[in-house]
Amino acid sequence: MDGERKKKILIVEDEKTISEILHYTITREGYEAVCAFDGLSALDLALEGNFDLILLDVMLPGLDGFEVCRRVREKLDTPIIMLTAREEEADKVFGLELGADDYMTKPFSHAELISRIKANIRRYHGENRTSSASKEPADDSVISINGLVINTKKYSVSKNGTEISLSKKEYDLVEFFAKNRGTVFQREEIMEKVWGYDGFYGDLRTVDVTLARIRKKIEENPAEPEYIQNKRGVGYFMS
Ligand code: CA
Repeated sequence: MDGERKKKILIVEDEKTISEILHYTITREGYEAVCAFDGLSALDLALEGNFDLILLDVMLPGLDGFEVCRRVREKLDTPIIMLTAREEEADKVFGLELGADDYMTKPFSHAELISRIKANIRRYHGENRTSSASKEPADDSVISINGLVINTKKYSVSKNGTEISLSKKEYDLVEFFAKNRGTVFQREEIMEKVWGYDGFYGDLRTVDVTLARIRKKIEENPAEPEYIQNKRGVGYFMS
């Protein structure tokens, strides 16, 4: 990242003390940070500001974080990390279903926050993709699996000729499994390889929820998946 412009992060958090701490932590790491304190201004900023990542609190005045997430996702694929105050499963799952890349439950450590920010920005700018792609033969850009076609140059997935709309993270996950067909991966490994987390693992349910979303899009019957399958007690694999 040396020599490039500073990466820009939007902090959406209505509690001033938390916002200040986040701002301090993030700018100290060399990022540029902009703060929004309510949902509507967050949405305006997110859509106009050309951000590299958005930290998005759920409980906000005006629009809540879920609505902001949903509306941003209609236009942009900027990485979004939801900040949830509660340990409620429903909140986390809902955020991911709306297209958030990840969530963190408050309180979290600064080290973990920075680690997740770095991983998500790295993935967004395709650094991992470029380095892994360079190991592949040049003509390996199209992977075809039983009617599912993954074009790793166009980052697109189609099934029986119809393009499937996937979020960035969903695409990354499909490509990862397609490139490692037949290998069973534990959720920890998937977090490390697809989310780019090393050392700090997010909630492993993130993997399950993202896969469930993918299944709804690519499977005939998501309850009996034919592409990405469970190996009970171990993890997931693409058959
Ligand atoms: Ca709040």
